[in-house]
Amino acid sequence: MTTKLVLRSVLLIGVYLAVSMAPLFAMLIGPTPPGRGFWREFSVALGFAGLAIMGLQFFLTGRFRSLTAPYGIDVVYHFHRAVSLIAFSFILLHAGIIPLAGPETLHLLHPATSPWWMVAGIAGLLAFAVVIATSLYRKQLGLVYERWRGIHGTVAVVAVALAMTHIGGVGYYAQGYVKRGLWIALIIGWVLALAYVRLIKPMIMLRRPYRIEEVAKERGRSWTLTLRPEGHRGMNFMPGQFAWLTLGASPYSIREHPFSFSSSAMEPDRLRMTIKELGDFTSRIGEVRPGTRAYLDGPHGTFTIDRHGAAGYVFIAGGVGITPVMSILRTMADRHDARPVLLLYGSIRWEEITFREELDELPARLNLRVVHVLEEPPEGWKGESGRITAELLARHLPADRMAREYFICGPEPMQKAIRNAMDRLGLPMEHVQSESFNFV
Ligand SMILES: Cc1cc2nc3c(=O)[nH]c(=O)nc-3n(C[C@H](O)[C@H](O)[C@H](O)COP(=O)(O)OP(=O)(O)OC[C@H]3O[C@@H](n4cnc5c(N)ncnc54)[C@H](O)[C@@H]3O)c2cc1C
Repeated sequence: MTTKLVLRSVLLIGVYLAVSMAPLFAMLIGPTPPGRGFWREFSVALGFAGLAIMGLQFFLTGRFRSLTAPYGIDVVYHFHRAVSLIAFSFILLHAGIIPLAGPETLHLLHPATSPWWMVAGIAGLLAFAVVIATSLYRKQLGLVYERWRGIHGTVAVVAVALAMTHIGGVGYYAQGYVKRGLWIALIIGWVLALAYVRLIKPMIMLRRPYRIEEVAKERGRSWTLTLRPEGHRGMNFMPGQFAWLTLGASPYSIREHPFSFSSSAMEPDRLRMTIKELGDFTSRIGEVRPGTRAYLDGPHGTFTIDRHGAAGYVFIAGGVGITPVMSILRTMADRHDARPVLLLYGSIRWEEITFREELDELPARLNLRVVHVLEEPPEGWKGESGRITAELLARHLPADRMAREYFICGPEPMQKAIRNAMDRLGLPMEHVQSESFNFV
């Protein structure tokens, strides 16, 4: 990471902590409501912190490239998930502690005597519970990704709005210029983040459409889409990055999917994405007609050699995880990059190796050695077979292995096994980059 990115990263963490704790500091300013004991004040503090963190989620999930660049968008999504659970437990404790504050608070929770702002608070709590439960148990609840995303986005907004109604109704700590100003500033920030994500960004994308030029079949139940920009110069990306693709629908739709670019970064006006048939959307990708309108939200991601300079590289790909690696290899060839590269590529069968022919040819343009590892090798196969293990790595890694940067892209269990194997071999783990094709 460059010094500029490190500084930005530290600054962003500082701003995040300051904003999420601002309501707590605001509590200390000015007179406090009289006659309220420790538990009541503690409960309020937990509620404020929980809500401030929940509101900041609109920024974390907004795919603001300036915010995600220092960490990588996958790290930001993981943080979003972990911090949501912390914020939710604060909010739960906020509600749970109220009865401890004294018997006089119990009437607040009784349906017959509960004031409207308490009803709003309880409804907000339930809405947050729906957001968390549907995220943790999406698959068990049988929710398809798009439906889950619709529920997630809408109910989260409703939950935050109800919580703000609750705070406004309670009135304490929302009075006086400073406190009221702070809450108004937070609300404006959240609304602006939402407006940018749901209105402004799609509007920008609408002005930068693409057209599908070609849909080509690849080995391994995959298809390569070639996208041509319409009325603009295309997208400059770093090899290994990805974008969210919307096909045939408006960019306001939530039907978008993330795919790595598989093409060379030297061709920003001829973008290619290689997509494996997998589920609802991808299994029909081969039916996409040339001429179809497309929109891209990107580029995103830090899985790129342009951010991780080294004397040489080792790429380890499994299945369709080859796509970002292919983009890197094609770019290196186009740039006449002479640094040594080793590719360990795990596939199930020989006939299913995506980009097999091109990988055979690339060593003529690149200082590249390819090792195929087959799970189900054909008869008479003399190459590597089974899984990529520590022993297999030890057999193929070059003498300058400690000076290389490592990039792993493949299914989670494979990534984990390879990281363990690398650790066992004493390889420099701080020089390992990985891309997961599964954020959610
Ligand atoms: C950074 C990144 C890069 C990727 N690059 C490639 C690539 O180059 N080639 C490739 O074939 N695949 C790639 N994928 C995976 C691809 O996005 C999913 O396979 C695809 O979205 C699945 O959609 P589906 O409707 O066909 O499958 P489904 O069966 O509906 O979904 C399978 C799983 O994919 C995930 N998923 C589904 N829809 C979305 C969505 N809109 N956004 C995010 N995740 C979703 C969910 O976890 C879901 O459970 C990438 C994923 C990520 C995160």
